[in-house]
Amino acid sequence: MTRARRAGLAAAAALLLSGCTSFAGSVSPPAPRAAPPATTTATPSDAPVGTCPAERARPDPHRPKVHLDFRLGDDRRTVTGTEKVVFTPDERVDELVFRLVPNGPESAPNGNHLVVDAVRGKDVSSGGYEAAGAADPGGLYVVSLRDGLAAGKSTEVALDFTLTLGTGGFDRFGADDQVSWWASGAPLLAWEPGTGWAEDPFVALNGETATSPVMDTSVSVSAPENLTVLMTGARAEPSAPQDGRRTWTSTEKVARDVGVAAGPFTTAQTTTPDGVGVTVGVLPGSRLPAEQLAEETSTAIAGIEAHVGAFPYRTLTVALLPDYGGGIEYPSMILEASPIPEVLVHEVAHMWFYGMVGNSQFRDPWLDEAMASWAEAVVDGNEGLVDRQALSLDGPVDGSMADYQNDHSYFRLVYDKGGAALLAARDAAGPDAFDAAIRCYVDANAWSIATPDDLGRALADLPAAVTVLMQAQVLDKKDVPR
Ligand SMILES: [Zn+2]
Repeated sequence: MTRARRAGLAAAAALLLSGCTSFAGSVSPPAPRAAPPATTTATPSDAPVGTCPAERARPDPHRPKVHLDFRLGDDRRTVTGTEKVVFTPDERVDELVFRLVPNGPESAPNGNHLVVDAVRGKDVSSGGYEAAGAADPGGLYVVSLRDGLAAGKSTEVALDFTLTLGTGGFDRFGADDQVSWWASGAPLLAWEPGTGWAEDPFVALNGETATSPVMDTSVSVSAPENLTVLMTGARAEPSAPQDGRRTWTSTEKVARDVGVAAGPFTTAQTTTPDGVGVTVGVLPGSRLPAEQLAEETSTAIAGIEAHVGAFPYRTLTVALLPDYGGGIEYPSMILEASPIPEVLVHEVAHMWFYGMVGNSQFRDPWLDEAMASWAEAVVDGNEGLVDRQALSLDGPVDGSMADYQNDHSYFRLVYDKGGAALLAARDAAGPDAFDAAIRCYVDANAWSIATPDDLGRALADLPAAVTVLMQAQVLDKKDVPR
């Protein structure tokens, strides 16, 4: 996520628009790109030094399969739903752990609240909450299995839940007089393949602490018929109105999580030169026309693709919310609460760093945030977006979310110093060699949960870059093979 902390640069950072076509209110979704075939698992992290995969790693064919069925009430503040998960662990488990993000200390005080009403499944014995530093009823929901589950075996669990949306603001949940939105709004399967359950505590910082695997995901949203629903995944046409409601559906085969916005959106669509279907929505009274937002999104995708490689998803959807400041990234979906292009570029960069190359957002928040800061700055004309002076700040970039005292030190060290250090490393190694190494990192770690040593391995042949990153406390000796 990001905050509009550099609003003063907004005008200077406005991106030139390319000649993309866009169609206001178009109802035909663009032709999707072929979904990645699920035939092999992601490259193991003990790959040899200095090698670059011939092609991007495929998602794990045994990844979880999730269906989310949401119903937004007529009050537009109550979301009831059912989540069905088919889970196949890569090591034995005795329970399933779900993260209840709305109950975290940044969201609960605004009235956001998620409860699990029931849990079902033939292997389920019980379910219960754990606090994990979150508000009542807790930040984790733990489903105990009667006999455990061996590696490679599958179980299906269904959770009924009720999500209450709080006051509108810069958060991943909220409702105001126009629009309702929720992201991480359902219990989130907190599995880190190869490591186990991510039961990290919530912290009172304005950032993410969740870890989740990519999942074969389908979403259904029933909403009052006057609302348009924008969400993660390739969206189908809504159902015909019935009893004052329409149902919207989407699929995304590699989503770690899901974002949804429902409001009186005016939409525009475009397709990037590489075939990514872009859908955006703006609310009545928006100063930014939908067509312009669609073109800015397409331009941001192309600008980052030039350095980092092909866009991860078939589609990208952007919901422009009222200007609460900043943006929040979800797989193939952005909740954009600021009409500023620089914020958009940052969130688009997260599609590679967080969406495709995942990370523990609690343990290694810099892996997505510093990389997104770096990526926004390497796009042509955006060089000034990262504060290069931040390189001289004291303090580590590679801390966990528990290591930063407040939002200021978190943003300055992880986003600003981290982004500046990656830019300085790029200068030291040479931009072409550095970008090539980043593409190797991206391709080797696609659809997995990367760790700092994965990046260290990708950069190991660029000692000048490694030196810069070690001096800046981005990488550690143990992260870089000798
Ligand atoms: Zn971010």
